[in-house]
Amino acid sequence: MPIPATAAGLAEGVLQRRVPDVARAISWAESGDARFPELLTALFSKTGRARVTGLTGSPGAGKSTLTAALARKARAAGRRVGIVAVDPSSPFSGGAILGDRIRMQDLYTDPGVLIRSMATRGNLGGLARATADAVDVLDAAGYDDILVETVGVGQDEVEVFRLAESCVVVLTPGMGDDIQAIKAGLMEVADLFVVNKADRDGADRVVQEILQMLELGEHGAWVPPILKTVATTGTGIDELIGKLEEHRKFLDGPQGARRKSERTRMRIEGLIKEDFLRRVESLRGDSGALEAVAARVNARMEDPLSAARSLVGRIDRGFAAAAESPSSPSKKLPFSEFLSKESPVPKPENLVSRISHLGIAVKSLAEGGAFWDLLGLVEEHREEVASQKVLTSFRAVGESHLELLESTSPDGPIAKSIEKRGPGIHHLCVEVTDVRAALGRLKAAGVRLVNEEPFDGAHDCLVAFVHPSATGGILLELSEKKAKAD
Ligand code: ZN
Repeated sequence: MPIPATAAGLAEGVLQRRVPDVARAISWAESGDARFPELLTALFSKTGRARVTGLTGSPGAGKSTLTAALARKARAAGRRVGIVAVDPSSPFSGGAILGDRIRMQDLYTDPGVLIRSMATRGNLGGLARATADAVDVLDAAGYDDILVETVGVGQDEVEVFRLAESCVVVLTPGMGDDIQAIKAGLMEVADLFVVNKADRDGADRVVQEILQMLELGEHGAWVPPILKTVATTGTGIDELIGKLEEHRKFLDGPQGARRKSERTRMRIEGLIKEDFLRRVESLRGDSGALEAVAARVNARMEDPLSAARSLVGRIDRGFAAAAESPSSPSKKLPFSEFLSKESPVPKPENLVSRISHLGIAVKSLAEGGAFWDLLGLVEEHREEVASQKVLTSFRAVGESHLELLESTSPDGPIAKSIEKRGPGIHHLCVEVTDVRAALGRLKAAGVRLVNEEPFDGAHDCLVAFVHPSATGGILLELSEKKAKAD
């Protein structure tokens, strides 16, 4: 049977427990496939049955042997098992020596066991998201026990680990430095401690060190038990399963419910952060928006807080999303709603990004330009805007420009302006990110506009004028840079 290519088809395959479909669904989760959200929507109501246990510890702590021992016990009880390996050194990730994999051969060939490794290339929390999604797929596919094996180092791994219902930290004798690492990252996440390879010297000392840490640290109603195991011989595995069962019962109680909802909240927060960080990253590709703003901040033309706010506005309007995937410009989260709740003073979104130029009406460009040449503001660009019967000359002043305007016809607006008021400042132009949005807002407020529809101006811009009666006496030009592809 071919693997379905649609979310609906794949969801059906997962619910019917077809292994290739489950594997494909996890691949979608891992790669962040655009179809995955729809798939998760279809599957999520069927999740929540599985017991999810995380096992973490340094490479060499024997997590994989412990994972295998737990999996075999579950299989003996007739339960189906999903193993998700986020640890690159795990035999389940194919990272360990061949001997380890051979010892696990029974699990690889058991149709009631699905083994899946996740790439640890995750960034911006992507690994935790992908792993949580993979666990949901396995849960929906009817796997009763899901074992997630991670390396207990790095923020990413801790994020993955804490998504499990029961978090087991695995330690071994003779790894003193590890205790320190665990103290830093895993203490408040651990539900159970296992001292594996407990037949070796120093096992009791490790137990003592954990006990000391537990006394110093804070834990809630559940006090993490410390167990000793020898995973290779199966010693202590039944006790571990018993404690996991106890923890499961605790989670089903009122204090466990609070913890569960806290974990769910963390997962949602993580998704929001991931989405937002991705949008922030995409600003770099957004026609240099970030660089342009940085230049203005460096030049002390804008403070960093205002700059950040204007970029957040830009993200919100989907500029970044549009630049990233032109085919789906409408697919975005309403971040302004989310952020406006956080912001103490609600204020209208800033539509203006900078002063673009000051327009000066001159009798002739040669005559009017000579003065600015003296100051070193040389002409950069000259262009005729036929619709306005004007020849324009641009001179850069830092981030902004002077625009000298010479009429090409005695009945053009510049000729009329000079006739009425003489040469001089004619208009101010501000750059807006979306000229139609700006016009729409002004129109809704009853502002008198010269142009209700934008038209093509110089410099590949879309422009429209606002009447001086509305602005306090200045003819105002709104200008939006058109995309280069136009
Ligand atoms: Zn202008």
